[in-house]
Formats: sequence, structure tokens, C-alpha cells
Amino acid sequence: MKIKILGCGPSHGVPSLSRGFGECNPNEPRNVRLRTSALVTTDNNENILIDTSPEVRLQLIREELPKIDAVLYTHSHYDHMGGANDLAGFLIDRKQKLPIYLTKNDYEEIKAHLHYLFRSDNSPFDIHLIEPYQPFQIGKTMITPILQYHGTQKSIGYRIGELAYSTDLCYMEETGLELLKGIKTWILGVVSPEKPKDFKGIQKHIYLNEAIELIDRIKPKQVFLTHMGQKMDYEKLCQSLPDNIRPCYDGLSIEI
Ligand SMILES: [Zn+2]
Repeated sequence: MKIKILGCGPSHGVPSLSRGFGECNPNEPRNVRLRTSALVTTDNNENILIDTSPEVRLQLIREELPKIDAVLYTHSHYDHMGGANDLAGFLIDRKQKLPIYLTKNDYEEIKAHLHYLFRSDNSPFDIHLIEPYQPFQIGKTMITPILQYHGTQKSIGYRIGELAYSTDLCYMEETGLELLKGIKTWILGVVSPEKPKDFKGIQKHIYLNEAIELIDRIKPKQVFLTHMGQKMDYEKLCQSLPDNIRPCYDGLSIEI
């Protein structure tokens, strides 16, 4: 199995319109980050897309238009689903509908934004509603959705064999942590190094120090950080993190 990181940026990307590269070195190409999507290729050669970022069109063109067998959605925020319209365009010549997997709540929210893609008479998508902790199968591959808390919202992480993909979370229940035990590779969303001292409001993402505590508990062989913001410089992270924790970059391919 392998996973290709199509994008590892935060909700506004790096550089962003408001903060540019921030604390990231603008001369380091690995600091240019499109919004988060990833493509998993299973041992049975199924290609499973995780999220359709607003840049999914460019990401799939860069990958030379791979076949897509299914899509897993983590949640309904724009940076994770905004490219659904462009994906529909990619499917025009496809004879069968594309299976997409998401919670009922995310389905309702995405449908509210992109209603024309979900008309029963001509939707390109075949909707599969999932429940947290209830495993399902795509082809021969078993997938376990794991409930995550993301500010006032909920999101879904996925365990696929020895791989787990967990982004946009500030908290996970014990049930979820137990289900992650035994994974080899963890793609983990971390936007910022540490909580700002003047932080007020509702936390949406785990900070790097909190992520390291979780990693110590789960003990995967390798961890790759995604959804990284303007304070997460690639080279500085490589120097400061332990060898088993690496920042992602767009286009990174990881063998599981
Ligand atoms: Zn996000």
C-alpha cells in the first residue's frame, strides 16, 4: 500500500493571501502547500482519494489523472470538499457513479453547498453514509472511520490497514486511540507548533506538542505531518523533530 500526499496545506494554503509564507522560507519549494488531499493505493490496486481539496483539479493533473475508485471525506469544510465540482468534471466519461463515503451530517452540508451535484437524476456520485467506528469495505480493503472533534464540528479520521489518516482534529476519544494501535504509518494534521499565549476561543487543531504526546501513545513507526500552516517551516521541522516524525510536502509518496 502507498499514499501520495496531493496537498498538505492549511485551510488557506501556503502561501496564503493574508500571511504569505509567514515563518516558512519562501525559497524552499516544499513550503508551497496546496490544500489537503491524499491518494491511497491499496495492495489490491484500488485508488482511494481522501478529500477533494479546492485544488484537486491541479493535484490530479499533476498525478497524470489516476483512476479513482472511491472518495473518503474527512468533513465538510471547504478546504476538504471544495474540489468536488472539478472532480465531477473529471468523471464525465465514467460509466459508473463514483462511490463517496461520508457521514450523514457531512453529506447534508456538502449537498447544501453543491446541490446541483447531488440531484438524484444525474449525480456522478454514489453516496455511502458511514458511522464513526463502523468499519466498511472498498473492494477488498477494510476501512475504519474514527470520530474526531474539530472545534464545534466533528470530523472523521480513517484507518486503512496499517495506515491512518487523521487531520482536522483537536481531540479524539479513547475508542479512537485504541483503534489506532498497531498502525505503522500515521498522517497527522498539525497546523501550528504551539498554542499562542493569547489564544482565545475554540481550539480546532492539535498543536505540535500535543501531537507528540499522541504519537508517544500510539507509537507508529513513522509519522508525517500534514495540514501545516505558515509557522511550520519544512527545514526547521526536519532539524527539530525526531527521525520518525517528518513534515509532508506536496507530492510526497509514502510506502506503508
Ligand atoms: Zn482543514
